Order: sequence, then structure tokens, then C-alpha cells
Amino acid sequence: MNSVDAYAAELLEGLNEPQRHAVQHPGGPLLVIAGAGSGKTRVLTHRVAYLVRSGQCGLGEILAVTFTNKAAAELRHRVGDLLGRSTRGLWVATFHSACARILRVEAEKLGYTRQFTIYDSDDSKRLVKRCLEAEGADTKRFTPNAVRNQISDHKNRLRSVEQAQDLAAGHYDRTVADAYAAYQKQLVANNAMDFDDLMGRTVDLFERYPDVRERYRRAFKHVLVDEYQDTNPAQYRFLQLLCMDDPMHQAGPSGGGTGRDAKGGGEDTNALTAPLAGEEPGHRNLMVVGDDAQSIYGFRSADIRNILDFEDDFPDAEVIKLEQNYRSTQHILDAANGLIGHNSNQRPKHLFTEEGEGDEVRVRAMQDDHAEARWVVSEVERLAGEGVPLGEMAVLYRTNALSRAIETSLTQAELDYQVIGGVRFFDRAEVKDALSYLQWLHNPANTVAFARVVNRPRRGIGDTSVGRMLNHAASTGVTPLEVIADPAAAGLKTAAVKAVGAFAEQIAELRETLFGAPDEAGVGGTASGSDLRVADLVEDVLRVTGYRSELERSEDPQDEGRLENLDQLHAYAEEFDAEGTAGAGEGTGSEDAFHALDRFLQQTALLSDADSKANGPEGQVTLMTLHNAKGLEYDAVFLVGLEDGIFPHSRAIDSGELEEERRLAYVGITRARRHLAITWARRRAMYGPPQSQVPSRFLRELPHEALDETSPEAMSGQPSFGGSERGRRDFSQIGRIGRGSSPSRPGGPPRDLSSLGLKRGSDLVSSKADAPPAPTWQPGQRVRHVKFDTGEVVRMDGDVVVVHFDDVGEKRLIAGFARLEALG
Ligand code: ATP
Ligand code: MG
Repeated sequence: MNSVDAYAAELLEGLNEPQRHAVQHPGGPLLVIAGAGSGKTRVLTHRVAYLVRSGQCGLGEILAVTFTNKAAAELRHRVGDLLGRSTRGLWVATFHSACARILRVEAEKLGYTRQFTIYDSDDSKRLVKRCLEAEGADTKRFTPNAVRNQISDHKNRLRSVEQAQDLAAGHYDRTVADAYAAYQKQLVANNAMDFDDLMGRTVDLFERYPDVRERYRRAFKHVLVDEYQDTNPAQYRFLQLLCMDDPMHQAGPSGGGTGRDAKGGGEDTNALTAPLAGEEPGHRNLMVVGDDAQSIYGFRSADIRNILDFEDDFPDAEVIKLEQNYRSTQHILDAANGLIGHNSNQRPKHLFTEEGEGDEVRVRAMQDDHAEARWVVSEVERLAGEGVPLGEMAVLYRTNALSRAIETSLTQAELDYQVIGGVRFFDRAEVKDALSYLQWLHNPANTVAFARVVNRPRRGIGDTSVGRMLNHAASTGVTPLEVIADPAAAGLKTAAVKAVGAFAEQIAELRETLFGAPDEAGVGGTASGSDLRVADLVEDVLRVTGYRSELERSEDPQDEGRLENLDQLHAYAEEFDAEGTAGAGEGTGSEDAFHALDRFLQQTALLSDADSKANGPEGQVTLMTLHNAKGLEYDAVFLVGLEDGIFPHSRAIDSGELEEERRLAYVGITRARRHLAITWARRRAMYGPPQSQVPSRFLRELPHEALDETSPEAMSGQPSFGGSERGRRDFSQIGRIGRGSSPSRPGGPPRDLSSLGLKRGSDLVSSKADAPPAPTWQPGQRVRHVKFDTGEVVRMDGDVVVVHFDDVGEKRLIAGFARLEALG
């Protein structure tokens, strides 16, 4: 063995026989198909490193694709570790980002500029809505979401507008096809592409420009795909075009087409344009790895046949199966296998593990979503106490809407976390703008907030003017608020002076709402707005400054999303106001608006800061949807929101398509190495007031042998904490949480409640919608309050408890909210 071979062979250590075989595969089509945690991704990363080390190709000649950004980052990281050097030049990407990267260079060939915008699904939904409205379609019957999904399906199957129109049989399909035509026209006019276009346009590019295709084919000598079970026809075609000799011969019996569509029973015509003549043979170095049990993108036109029929598509393909699971302990694997066994369309697999039995899986029922969030956080703390790093824990949910309660609880417990996928709510530009207005009203010396808002919405105050005002403030030691009172003094030109004058008037109006009439200097005032609510202030800011009306007038579909975010901010402030009033059980009732604003800004700053905090050595707890969790693994996993209608999703229940949801649950369970807890809540507020929930049917499908002894009770619909140990921990959290942004209480008292010296409800915060029964207190009882410290109960007055505190005297507190602790 020469030294190069020896160097490469190092990479074979720590692999089992079939894994080695795959890593050393000489080239040509290769499929690795195996269950979760069997080392498919490991094989893929080792192969990338092996190809480089053995001198078969350079880093820059490899394209490795997967489905999520997180998984792509993980792949890059693993390859970097193996090679022990930078992975610069290596293309590791999601399908979409690889295509976006290609299109940034080539877009002009397709009639776009390189600066084309990428519309996310919200943007595209809005554009579809406008197209439907322009057509006069009934958007109740043709909901923008459904129509968008149909258009997306056409695109993912590489059907052009004309083909969609030809295929349309009934009125519905024709309306969709017409909307597709209008939508596509608009996209081009806006110099924008939606996500599906990224794939579709790249395929177009390769088909229309053989020379371009040839360039990329030469550039990538090896193409490797993780999670191949989730590829759709467009992605399949993309891979064909990049690797195969003559895609025409891959197209199946009808000739031409994506191959996939053509073999699918022939109902589809295909999108292929002309045959590609006179080009060089493809390298055929395509390695794909996947697991049909983890196919979870059928709803986005992924075609499981891509993996099941790989051998038919590529008759000379080698197929390798892996059977040992290296990730999870036996109980977790049993739970996963038991669940997926309920799917009838599943290839049976024989997975075994040598990791031992491990912990049993725990299923827990909670009273509501807040209690669930707090339980998860208390478990995170318990595991952290046992030495599990935060970075090794993940909370997974079916839809993003489930993250907020968990985020709030984590923030209150001061635990570092990250949310994968989507910009965090408080980091969105429009939300930041609105908060900056509040910050500046709150603190006129805040130049950052001033600079952010002074020309938003645009009011003709240019950067130069802003710079002059900031300089003037700095050199004369005044606040920007004083500067705008006399903009000419800052050396602004007439037009700018006028624009700033109008802005100053708006600010004066807002300050008057906040503080009452201004004093002569116009810079202060007496706090008089004691009944002012933060939610109203948010609305006033948006109205008075013209921020809202500018968005309302806009034609840009993204602005509708911005408006929705502002509505959400308003709802969030309302929730905050409601708690403020409820919490004023603390008695004073004299909290002025300024004070409330203070707390509001602090709270939002904390929430928005959590992400940018330096990542501690312990890492951060990861929050994400199950779809985003594909391919990843954590020591501890929490699956939350296991309720019928949420998971399985109501859409899947209605259409009877439960198998894909079950595969998604299988993906979730198999992310865990050694700890797995699954929760559901009896009541949950998703988009409005709390609703009663029933446990997910998937819970009943988990094999009992894999679960701990408390789980069956939790699956029966009764709330439980699953034992005193957890109950105690849960309660131990409450004192620290205090009156926060999220009203909550745990599902019910732990059985040893009295031994904790707590009375039900007395130590808890509650939402208005779900207030706990008020506890009763006996006169003479000694109590402790978080803020007023110790005192003695005088009497009960309905829901109000009157307490004489040792330091501050008599206070009337709402018993259900006051968090009194019984002493002695
Ligand atoms: P999924 O289907 O969830 O994507 P996978 O098949 O891609 O899973 P990997 O993530 O590659 O599985 O591997 C799971 C875990 O097992 C990883 O921590 C990996 O390092 C480990 N592993 C895989 N093969 C071996 C092996 N031969 N020896 C030791 N550990 C291994
Ligand atoms: Mg994997």
C-alpha cells in the first residue's frame, strides 16, 4: 500500500464491512438504502473524504446535496473533521441553494437579472392570491394556499404552464392552470423566483444550454445525495442531467421526459424540450443514500419511487444495505420500529443496535401548552444537571407555531437556545422598526433607534441629513429628539428641514399619548398615561408614522407578510398588557404606562437577544420542526404537541394519508440517542383561544415494552406529571419564572403538593382563558410574596386575598395570581 492509499485507508477505520464497501466503491451509480441511524450519512461523508484523499478528485469537483441547511452544515462539518482541513471549494448544499448558486451566475440566460429575488412560500402565496383575484376567481373556493400547492406540484413535476393547461380536465384544474400562467408572468415581471423555480429553472438552463450543462457536468466529477427518498421529479431530472450519459435514455418507455413522470403510469406529459445531441458521456458517478421509511416530502411532490426504483433506472447500479443502528438505544429503536410497523406500505428492515436497552421512552400528558413548555424546560435542566450538554438536546414539533411557548420558557429559565428555520420573530425588520420607535420614545437619547426609524417609512430624510443630525447631537450633547425640534441648527437643507418638521410633529403626537401634554422644552412630561396599554401604543406608532398605511398601499407581496407580523406584534403586546393587569394583583394599580413600556422593551429585547448570544461551551438547545430534524441526532429529544389534528396534522387525517405522518414521527423518534420524551397537552392555544385536545393516535401505536410505567396513564387522556420527582422539579421552576410573557400553569398539582408547602394556584400564573380556581386562605396564615416578602393573611374577599405585609402594610392581591407561599 503506498502512502496515499494508507492515508486514504485511515478513513475506513470505524466502519463496518458494507459501509467500507460503499466508501471504496469505484464509481458509477450506487444506492445505499437503510434504516435510520445506520450510518448512511457517515458513509457519504467518509466517501467524500476518501475520494479526495485517494486523489480521485479535488474537493471542488464534488457536489454533495441534501435537503435542509442544517443538514448541509452538518455534512460540511463532518467532512472537515475527517479531512482535518478547510472544506472551502467543496459544494455541500441543499438542492435549492445549489441551484440558487448556479442561477446567480446564469440567470441572464433565462431572462432574469442576477439580482433576482427569491420569494418564500408566504410571498408566493400572496402573489397567487393577487393573480386569483385579478382573474375574478372565488378565493374561498380556490384558496390561495391550495392553488399555490397545485402550482408547486406542476413545477416540481416540471410541467410548463402550457402542459398544465393541456392536462387540466375540469373547471378547478383550469382555474389553477390559468392562475399558474398569471403567477408565472408576474414572477418574471418582478424578477423573482419561488423555491420551485430554483429547481425548475436550473433544469431549464441545463436543457436549453447544453454547453452550460456540460460545464457543470465537468465541474462535478462526483455527485452524492443524502436523503434521496425525498427527491421530487425536478430534482431527479437535475441529477440525471448532471451525471448521466444521455438523459433521453433514462426517460422510460414513453421516451423523453423526466423519466419519473413517464414511468408513473403515463398520465403526465413531460417537460423535456429537445434531445441533447452531441455531448460527452456523463461520468455516472452518482451515489445516493436514503431510507424509504423516512420519506416525508410527498406533500411537496417528492416521489418515493425515486429510491424504490433506483435499480430499474440504473440497471448497473450497485445496492448496499446497512443493518446495524449505531445511534439509539434499544427502547428508542423499539418505539420507532413499533410505530412504523403500522404502515402497510413499508419495506420491512432488520435493524439492530449494540447500544444496550437504555432509558425507557416517556410519554407525558400536560394540562396546557405552557405547562408542557415548562415541563420540557425542567427536564432540560435536569438532564443538563446530569451532564448532557444543551447542544445535545432538541425540541421537535410538527409546525412552527408550537415553538413560542417553548421559546418563552427557555428564555425565562435563561437557557441558551436556537430556533432552526425561519427568521426569529423579533428579528424581522418590520418588528424591529416598530420596537425601535418604542425604544426611541422610551429613550430619546437612543441614537441607534432614532437612526433606524427617522426615515422609515421613507419620508425624504436622506443619509446625509441623518448624519448631520447625529453629528449635531453628539457635538452639542443633546438628544436626537431635541435636534428634530430645530433641524435647521443641524445644518439641514430646506427640504430636509421640512421633512424632519413633519416627522417631529408625529413624534410629538406620540409622546403626548405616552406622557400627556409636553412641557415647554418638548422633551419630557409628566407620566399621565396610566391607563395606556402597550398594544395601543404599538398601534398608534404604526398609524401616526404612516408605517402601516405605506405597507397597506404596497403592491409588493412581501409587505402583506410584514403587516401580518405587525399584527402579531400587536397581539403579543395585548397579551403582555393582559398579564400586566392580571399581575397587578400585586396590588398597586399605579403602574404607569412608562413603566409598562419599560418592562415590555426589556422583555422583547431579551427574547430577541437570545439567539445572538455567544454560544456557551454547553451549546444551545435546538428547536425545530420535525421536517428540519431529518438526518440529525441528539442525546435527548423532546417531541411535543402529539395531539390529533396537530400531529398527525388535520390535513392528513382528513385525506386519510397517515402513512407519511407516521414516517415523520418515525424520523422524530429516531433522532434520539438515549433520552426520548413525548408530550401532549389537554388544552392548547394555537391561533386563538385554547382548545381541548386529544392525544395523538400515534401514541397508542407505540409498543408498551418500550415505554416507562407512567406512560400508559399519560396516553389515556389524563393529565399527569408522571410522578413526584418530575412534579417537584416542575414546581421548582415556577418561582423562578415569575410573571413573564407567557401565562401558564402546570397541568395539575403533583401528588405531594402539600409537602412542598404550596397551595394549588397560589404559586402559579395563569392565562385569562384558563384561570385556576382561586385558592382560599385562612386569616392568620403566614405567607411569603415574591415582592412584598412576609406577611399575614387578614381575610379573603371573593377572589382577593387581603394580606398585611410586615414591610409594606396591607395589600389586596388576586389570590389566583399572587404567587403566595404558605409559611409555617
Ligand atoms: P438517518 O437515517 O437518521 O439520516 P444515518 O443512516 O444517516 O441516519 P448516521 O447519521 O450516518 O446515520 O449515523 C448515525 C450515528 O451512528 C452517527 O453518530 C454515526 O457517527 C454513528 N455510526 C455510524 N456508523 C458507525 C460505525 N461503523 N461505527 C461507529 N459509529 C457509527
Ligand atoms: Mg443521515
